[in-house]
Amino acid sequence: MSKEFNAFEMAQSQFDAVADKLELDEGIRELLRWPLREFHFLIPVHMDDGTVKVFHGYRVQHNDARGPAKGGIRFHPQETVDTVRALATWMTWKCAVVDIPLGGGKGGVICNPHSLSAREQEQICRGWIRQVARNIGPLQDVPAPDVMTNPQHMVWMLDEYEKMTGAHYPGMITGKPVEVGGSLGRTEATGFGVIYTVREALKRAGVPIKGVRASIQGFGNVAQYAAKLFIEYGGSVVAVSCWDNDDHAAYSFLKPDGIDIDFLLSITDRFGTIDKDKAKAAGYVIADPESWIEQEAEILIPAALENQINGDNVDKIKNTVKMVAEGANGPTTPEADEALKARGIFVIPDFLCNAGGVTCSYFEQVQCNQNFFWPKDEVLKRLDEQMTQAFHAVADLAEETGEYMRDAAYMISIQRVAVACHLRGWA
Ligand code: NAD
Repeated sequence: MSKEFNAFEMAQSQFDAVADKLELDEGIRELLRWPLREFHFLIPVHMDDGTVKVFHGYRVQHNDARGPAKGGIRFHPQETVDTVRALATWMTWKCAVVDIPLGGGKGGVICNPHSLSAREQEQICRGWIRQVARNIGPLQDVPAPDVMTNPQHMVWMLDEYEKMTGAHYPGMITGKPVEVGGSLGRTEATGFGVIYTVREALKRAGVPIKGVRASIQGFGNVAQYAAKLFIEYGGSVVAVSCWDNDDHAAYSFLKPDGIDIDFLLSITDRFGTIDKDKAKAAGYVIADPESWIEQEAEILIPAALENQINGDNVDKIKNTVKMVAEGANGPTTPEADEALKARGIFVIPDFLCNAGGVTCSYFEQVQCNQNFFWPKDEVLKRLDEQMTQAFHAVADLAEETGEYMRDAAYMISIQRVAVACHLRGWA
C-alpha cells in the first residue's frame, strides 16, 4: 500500500529534484518551496433550514514575482490546506511555463456543492470574498473557477467584490460568463489546450492522430472539451469516468469502439456526472473507477483529480499506452512517475498540459482591462499559438538534455521565477 498521499509534499519533492539539477542557492530554494502568503478563514452561512453552518475557506499565494497571483477556487468535501498549497505552487510553474506575466495562487472551500442549494452556494461565494477582499484584486491576486466551481460562482464573487469596493473591477476574477466580462473560448480552453499539446506531441512522434485511442478519467469541464477536440481531430475516446453523488462512488464508462460525445454530453449534469442508466441502455459498459486506466489505448488523459495514477495502479497501464497527457493537476504520484519514465511513456506534465485555462484567463484579464473583447476564433488561435510554443520549448529542452518532460518543464519555469525573484532583490 502506498504512503498516504500529500499533494504539497509531492509538489515540494518535484521542486527539490529540479532545484538540485539547477543547483539553486539555499535562499531562493527556501523561498520557492513554500507559499509566500496563506489565508485560512471561516465562512458562516445561514442555511435554508434555518441553521448556521460554518465552512472553512482558504486562499494561498505561492509566488507573485512575475505578476499578480492567479489560480482557481475549488469547492470540495476533501479539500485540505496542503492540496491548496500544492495547487498554488503548480500555478506558479504553470504561468511561468507558458510565459504569461502572472504568479501562482489557489483557493478552496471545504464543502460539497451537490448538497447545497444555489442560495447557500451564493452565500459561500460572497462570504469567501468578504474574508479575502483586501488581499486579492486585479493587481494582487486573480481567482478563477476550478473543481465544482463555475461562471455563476465567479459572478457572485465579482458582485460582492464590487459592492465592497464601490467600483467595477472585471479583471479581479476570470472564468466569468461572457455576459459579465468573460472571454469567449474560456469554457473550452483547458480541454482544448490539452489536445493542442497532444496534437503537437503526436506530430513530433510522426504519428497521425486519426485512429489514435484515448482513455480519459473524469467527464467535467476539462475532460469534455478534451474529448470533443480529440474526436474532431480524428481520434477516438474509448473510456471516460465520473463521480456519482447519489451513491458516492466513481464509475468508468467504457466504449471500445469510441464514445459518442454529443450523446454523452446530453446525459451529463453540470457537475460532470453521467446518467448511468441512460449510458448503459446505449451500450456503454459501466465499470469500476479504475477501469479507465486499464484500457487498450495509446493515450491516457487523467482529467479529474490528483493522485489518480499511483504506485497501486500504475502497473495496470497497458503496453499500448505511449503517452499520458495530464489534464488534471497532480494526477501522477512521484512513484508512478518513475514507473512511467522507466517504461518510456511520454508524459505531458500537468502544468504544461492543462495551462490552456490560465492562458485564456490571462486573455480574459487583458480584454477586461482594455474593455474590448475578441472574437472566439481569435482567442482560440492565440491560445493554440501560446500552448504550441510552450510545448515545443519544453520538448526541445527535453530532447537536447535527455531530461524527462516533467523535469524539462520544471527547469524552464523555476528558472523564469528564480530570475524574477533575483531581479526584485528577493533572493
Ligand atoms: P469538473 O468539476 O468540471 O469535473 C471533474 C470531473 O471529474 C467530473 O466529471 C467528476 O464527476 C469527475 N470525478 C471527480 N472525482 C472523481 C473520481 N474519484 N473518479 C473519477 N472521476 C471523478 O472539474 P474540471 O474543471 O474538469 O477539473 C478537472 C481537473 O483539471 C482538476 O484537477 C483541476 O484542478 C484541473 N484543471 C482544471 C482547469 C479548468 O479550467 N477547469 C484548468 C486547469 C486544471
